[in-house]
Amino acid sequence: MQSRYRFTCAWLADGWHRNVVISVDPGGDIVDVSADDTVTAARMINGAAIAGMPNIHSHAFQRAMAGLVEQRGGKDDSFWTWRETMYDVASRITPDCLNGVAAQLYADMVKAGYTSVCEFHYLHSPGDASGAHSHEQRLAMSQALVDAASTAGIGLTLLPTLYQTSDFGGAPPTERQRQFAMETREYLDLLDALRQPSQRSAQLEVGVALHSLRAVPPESLRAVLDSQRNGQAIHIHIAEQEREVQACLERTGKRPIEWLLDNASVDRRWCLIHATHATAAELQGIAAAGAVVGLCPTTEANLGDGIFPMETLLEAGGAFAIGSDSHISLSPIEELRWLEYQARLVRRQRSVLTDGNLSGGALLWQKACTAGARVSGRPIGELAAGKRADVVVLDINSPLFAARSDSSIIDTFVFSGTNESVRDVMVGGRWLVQDRRHFAETAVAAGYKRALQKMFKRDRL
Ligand SMILES: [Zn+2]
Repeated sequence: MQSRYRFTCAWLADGWHRNVVISVDPGGDIVDVSADDTVTAARMINGAAIAGMPNIHSHAFQRAMAGLVEQRGGKDDSFWTWRETMYDVASRITPDCLNGVAAQLYADMVKAGYTSVCEFHYLHSPGDASGAHSHEQRLAMSQALVDAASTAGIGLTLLPTLYQTSDFGGAPPTERQRQFAMETREYLDLLDALRQPSQRSAQLEVGVALHSLRAVPPESLRAVLDSQRNGQAIHIHIAEQEREVQACLERTGKRPIEWLLDNASVDRRWCLIHATHATAAELQGIAAAGAVVGLCPTTEANLGDGIFPMETLLEAGGAFAIGSDSHISLSPIEELRWLEYQARLVRRQRSVLTDGNLSGGALLWQKACTAGARVSGRPIGELAAGKRADVVVLDINSPLFAARSDSSIIDTFVFSGTNESVRDVMVGGRWLVQDRRHFAETAVAAGYKRALQKMFKRDRL
C-alpha cells in the first residue's frame, strides 16, 4: 500500500512545481512524483518540499564537547591544542554514552533538515578500556551508533575508520590514540561483521574511512583499497591543517592531495574531507577524478583551519558536500551560508558562487545534496522516483516567506532562515518531525543528559 502526499509546491530536478504528489512505497522509497496534479487522491501537506540534506561528516561524540573549548588555552591555541580536549572527551566514552550522545545529535540533525549522516567513526573502544581492544568492543561501539541512528530515524552511512599511526613515517599511536588504533586485518573483520545480512537495512550503508595520511601508512591504505572494490564510499581527512601539509611534503615530497591522487585510484566514491589547503592543480585533479570535497565550514572556522578556495573548485567543475563535523553548529543552511560568505569576504563582491542558472542558495543546496548523496552511497538527495523518501517541508506560511515567489524560497531559507523554517521532516517515508517536534525528542533528551552526567560526573562542565 502506497502513501501519497500532495505538497503545495516542491523543488524537483527541473525547478519548482505546484501541487506535487509524491507516492511512497511501504519500504520508504519514492515510486512516483507527479507535478501539477490536482486529481490523485493524496494527503495534503501545506508547505514547500525540498530534498533532505545529506550530512557527510560527523564525529558524533564531539557533540558532548561543543562550547567547552572556547577559552584561550595559551598563545598558540589551535587545532592541535583543541585535539587534546577532544582526546580527553573520547577517553570518557562507553558504548552507552556514545549511543546517548548520538541519538540526541541525530534527532537534532533531522530537525535541522539533515536526513542522513556519514559517521566517520574512529572511537573503536570504550575510553576506560585498558590495553588492546577486542573485536567485540569494536563492534559494540559501532553498534551504539547504528542503534542511535535507528532511534532518531536518520539514514546512516557508517564509516568505520582506520587509524594506525600518529604521524607520517609510521610513528606509533600515542597513548591517547590507542583507543582508535587497530591492525588492518582487524579493521577488515569489523567491516565484514557490520555488513552481515542480519545488519542490512535500507537506512544503513557501511562505507570505509581512512583517518588521514598521517594516521594510515601507504601499505595499509593499499590493502584496504584492494579489498573494497564494490562501490563503497571512501572518505579521508586530507588537508585540514598547514602543519600536516608541511609534514607530508617533508616526508613524501608531495602535498597530501597531490600524494593521494598519485597513489590511489581516486574516483567518484571518494570524499576528501577538509581539502582546505588545496592548490588549483589539486582541485582540478579532484574534479577530474569525479571525487567530492567534503566541507564543514563552521567547524573549520571554529578550529581556525583556513578558508577553502571554493570558487576555484567550482571553476574546475568540482563537486562539494557539507558536514557538521564537530557539531558546534547543527544547521545545513549555516554551513552553506558560510561557504558563500567566505567567498564574498575574500573577493569583496556579492553572489560569488552562482552559475547564471541558479541563484546562490538554490545552487548550494542542490549541489551539496547531489554530491552528498553520492558519497553517502545511498539513493538520496533528490525528490524523484527510485530515491528514498527524504523530504524537508519548509513552513512557507511563516512571516519569513510572506510575499515570496516560489523561486525565492530556497534563497530565503538559506540566507535568512533558521532551523525553525523546517516544519516537518520525512525520512525513508516516515514522518520523524511534525510541527517542529521530533517524535522521540523527550526520550533522546533524557538519554543525552544521562550520558553527559556519566561522562563528566567528576567535573563541572
Ligand atoms: Zn573529521
